[in-house]
Amino acid sequence: MQAKALLDVSGIEVIYNHVILVLKGVSLQVPEGGIVALLGGNGAGKTTTLRAVSNLLKGERGAVTKGSIELRGERIENLTPADLVERGVVQVMEGRHCFAHLTIEENLLTGAYTRKSKGEVAANLEKVYTYFPRLKTRRTSQAAYTSGGEQQMCAIGRALMANPSMVLLDEPSMGLAPQIVQEVFDIVKDLNAREKVTFLLAEQNTSMALKYSDYGYIMESGRVVMDGQAAELATNEDVKEFYLGMG
Ligand code: ATP
Repeated sequence: MQAKALLDVSGIEVIYNHVILVLKGVSLQVPEGGIVALLGGNGAGKTTTLRAVSNLLKGERGAVTKGSIELRGERIENLTPADLVERGVVQVMEGRHCFAHLTIEENLLTGAYTRKSKGEVAANLEKVYTYFPRLKTRRTSQAAYTSGGEQQMCAIGRALMANPSMVLLDEPSMGLAPQIVQEVFDIVKDLNAREKVTFLLAEQNTSMALKYSDYGYIMESGRVVMDGQAAELATNEDVKEFYLGMG
């Protein structure tokens, strides 16, 4: 990769419950301003890799037991998720995780807890609405009564309220109709181009993810088995045979 790495994951091992070795030496780099896809089937270790970066393993009784994770050259394994948000790293979890009983706007505002000035929060909210006009029209709706696509947009919008430099996006396409998946990916591309947000996205929908990313890593059983420029992976015969039907 040509640009300087914003995130550098080197040889990490992750163990759950003290005994289950799930990541077996994963290395990957995410350049500043890039969109990098983490691909692979169910249980390959994509979510675990994202959790390791954003330090969300503890709640799952998991731990990084080997290797290193650096953000802009700084080791981050011992930082809290809140420290990471302050450094600009925000994770959007799989399954959306909107607060069902709050309105869309209230959900978005929960993402602004690190931002202090009211003016800044209001400006950020307006920015989120320019990227997600659907959320603006649904701002007073309770999240429980919005569609899956709107909830996914809400989860990404909430992450944007923290003004991140990097978003870790876990399976944004999960459970969504193809047209909505495309809409979500178009917004990701737009945020990357216009707001310079870097993305590391875990996806089972290989073809869609490769269309929108610059670089991809393919995982299998806790290891990276292949990596390359997205355009090259998309035309690679093995990738076509084993992964392009997925998602
Ligand atoms: P999916 O798309 O299904 O989420 P994934 O590639 O994101 O797949 P992970 O969720 O990282 O994969 O799971 C990797 C492996 O770790 C799987 O075998 C899974 O069963 C196991 N695993 C995940 N979370 C835990 C946990 N909290 N405790 C024990 N094992 C876990």
